[in-house]
Amino acid sequence: MKRRRLAPLRRLGQSLFLCLFLFLFIKTDYQGSDNLQYAVNLIFRIDPLVAAATMLAAKTFIILLFPALFTIVFTFLLGRFFCGWVCPMGTIIDMSHKLARPAPNTTDWKHQNLRYYILFFVLTGALFGLPLVGYVDPFSILVRALTLALYPAFNFSSESFFTFTYLNAPPWVNSVTEPLYAFMKNYILASDPRVYTLTLLSLSILLIVLLLETVERRFFCRNLCPLGAMFSLVARFSLLRTIGGENSRCGKCQNCRSTCRMAAIDHNKAVSMEKCIFCLDCIDACPKKQISFGFAFKLAPISMNISRRGFITTAISSAAIPLFLPGRAISKRPNPKLLRPPGALSEQDFLTRCVRCGECMKVCIGNGLHPLFLEAGLEGIFSPKLSPRLGYCEYNCTLCGQVCPTGAIQKLSPEIKKKERIGLATFDKNRCLPYAKAIPCIVCEEHCPIADKAIKFKEVELVNDNGQRLVMKQPYAIDELCIGCGICEYKCPLEGEAAVSISRPDNSRLQKDALSY
Ligand code: SF4
Ligand code: SF4
Ligand code: SF4
Repeated sequence: MKRRRLAPLRRLGQSLFLCLFLFLFIKTDYQGSDNLQYAVNLIFRIDPLVAAATMLAAKTFIILLFPALFTIVFTFLLGRFFCGWVCPMGTIIDMSHKLARPAPNTTDWKHQNLRYYILFFVLTGALFGLPLVGYVDPFSILVRALTLALYPAFNFSSESFFTFTYLNAPPWVNSVTEPLYAFMKNYILASDPRVYTLTLLSLSILLIVLLLETVERRFFCRNLCPLGAMFSLVARFSLLRTIGGENSRCGKCQNCRSTCRMAAIDHNKAVSMEKCIFCLDCIDACPKKQISFGFAFKLAPISMNISRRGFITTAISSAAIPLFLPGRAISKRPNPKLLRPPGALSEQDFLTRCVRCGECMKVCIGNGLHPLFLEAGLEGIFSPKLSPRLGYCEYNCTLCGQVCPTGAIQKLSPEIKKKERIGLATFDKNRCLPYAKAIPCIVCEEHCPIADKAIKFKEVELVNDNGQRLVMKQPYAIDELCIGCGICEYKCPLEGEAAVSISRPDNSRLQKDALSY
């Protein structure tokens, strides 16, 4: 009997959605216009885990995340179709399966409750002020690794390759590589190559997810993904169902069970909709064509086996951990160098709403936004901060507020953005050249974007090392004008630490209320 081949159809679907995801990722960049043309943060806005955790944290409805509701409706209709066809993490895991030494498909789930515990922990934590979703959400893990590690590496290696061929290759090679470079520069490479902190950490987390594939197929999806757990809870009710070989015509060959990447088929060949992701492998594998799809409403028993004690312990621990946060020294004296992006909510609201997606860092024109390590405590890891020695906040730019999917960074109009204070500039007179060495320098003042200049000079008569009498212009910052964009610190020509640095303004954001979107 000729077998059906449906898996290529699913692979085609996965490839198309992956291309769409990568297209939106690449377009998360300055495209010559102040406004982004595409909904580049769409993947986070249709993510019901991000939506639920962010709204629980904000204790308000966030209109920006409304599209996540469609994903839930879609799951109710079509089950975990999203995991099998749409999720870019699932697709990359499937692709990596071919590269990793494949683990044989196991037919049962050893740790299936873990993802439900993670889901409850993340959601109750969000309710009580513990921001965890960004560390376990598959899109946050993926986009962050792409932004901070893989895309910069791709840009760097491409630029190096084309520079090499331009300088060293014969003309006939350049006649091919130069148009290719022009095409890539227009459509694929970053407008400006960027560098980031925490590159290896973000990459390692993604690699761990992929390496788990050597332990068990779709290990992350089966055991760890809280988004998948959320889909499972809804998919129990799904209208589209896989009908397994629970009938007398089934040849008992077990092909479907050993093929299923999600171990969704039990000993009686009944398919669990909580686990099935419609990859279609079982249909292809069944020699007797006994597996099919159909619409029906049936409430399937849930295999989640969370004890009441386990549930209560999870809820209590996620509620209790935030009680310890205000008792840390960091709460009394926040790091003065912790500069959040312009338009960021007050620190507590910002931390609970930010899902560490990295979108703001990817889009930042001045390469000023970088992931935080421990400066805001453990719960601040991967949240964005302005690092003026590495980059700066472009005066006319409002892009980070446009891409932030959760409203942790508010979308500001250009007029308001130009007045939004991120920090304040302070000069170190022991390092600043006109003060410390009597060497003229006005670089910081030249770059200050404020029309009236937030850096002024006082003229002082000095005698330099050679005994010459000269008039030195010594810079100082005007607090009322400075917005803390950081370009003065970035451009300061001193090696290492700059002579001008930006510090947090005195609690200016702490009074700011969270806006409802
Ligand atoms: S379980 Fe999670 S990572 Fe896997 S496909 Fe579903 S959403 Fe994506
Ligand atoms: S602040 Fe940045 S990292 Fe956090 S959710 Fe918004 S865009 Fe993502
Ligand atoms: S941070 Fe520096 S460049 Fe930016 S507004 Fe303040 S003084 Fe001017």
